[in-house]
Amino acid sequence: MFGTGVLKGLGVTLKEFVGTYVDDIKKIPSRYAGGRKELDQSQASAQTGIFTVQYPEERRKLSERFRYIPMLVYDAETGENRCTACGICAKVCPPQCIWIVRAKDERGKPLTRPAEFQIDTTICMNCGLCAEFCPFDAIKMDHDYEIAARQRMPYLVFDLQKLRVPTTYYARIRPTDWAEEEAARRAKEAAKAAKDAEKAAQAATAGPGSQTAQEQPVGTAPGAAAAGETIAAPSRPRPTPEEVERLKAEAAARRAAKAAQGGENK
Ligand code: SF4
Ligand code: SF4
Repeated sequence: MFGTGVLKGLGVTLKEFVGTYVDDIKKIPSRYAGGRKELDQSQASAQTGIFTVQYPEERRKLSERFRYIPMLVYDAETGENRCTACGICAKVCPPQCIWIVRAKDERGKPLTRPAEFQIDTTICMNCGLCAEFCPFDAIKMDHDYEIAARQRMPYLVFDLQKLRVPTTYYARIRPTDWAEEEAARRAKEAAKAAKDAEKAAQAATAGPGSQTAQEQPVGTAPGAAAAGETIAAPSRPRPTPEEVERLKAEAAARRAAKAAQGGENK
């Protein structure tokens, strides 16, 4: 029938309009009671009515994959930065907003930790490449997006202290990534421990004074070392003096033939 679509549309609008107030009435005395609230992401679609996030009283719950400014993770137990100041993140950063100064010891020898680490958050484009490329899982993307300030310096150029977060914080905001990384780390440690145990068992079987394959001098084979027998290192076969003379004569003949051929062609 002509006009049913229009009526249906108006019905939906009316339902949403009424739903808006019903939702508010359900939360009497105030939907804002209890201070800051985090709304589940599904809440907006599940809620009836014309729904608006009443920021800053309400906030959308962020997706785990949400990324804003990078943060530097330190071990919550030891307080040590994971960052080794390798500089890879600074190299891959497209807008080049990372500055790193490597720490040095009293003799000027570089150490595997940063003395300074700065990120200009006004330039950072939140791409997350620094976190993707870091080989030490030291730099990760933070969820904190409320960093507005009136002045760029010193508030928006984050230094090492401002960038540092404990592993516990990282585990809380990115539990999936954290669990995956921890599982990989544990597997790596287990593989290393198994390898060490195997090496120790081999050394014990061979008895005291024996050498492992890596420790053997050049020219001895694993089996020979155990038996106390020395095997000569493999070498190229050498021609006899007669063969050398024959090869020389053949080369001279080839040269002469080539020279003769060149003279005929002129
Ligand atoms: S954050 Fe990672 S990539 Fe960047 S300097 Fe530190 S260890 Fe290297
Ligand atoms: S998120 Fe992207 S732009 Fe920001 S510091 Fe990392 S690499 Fe640079």
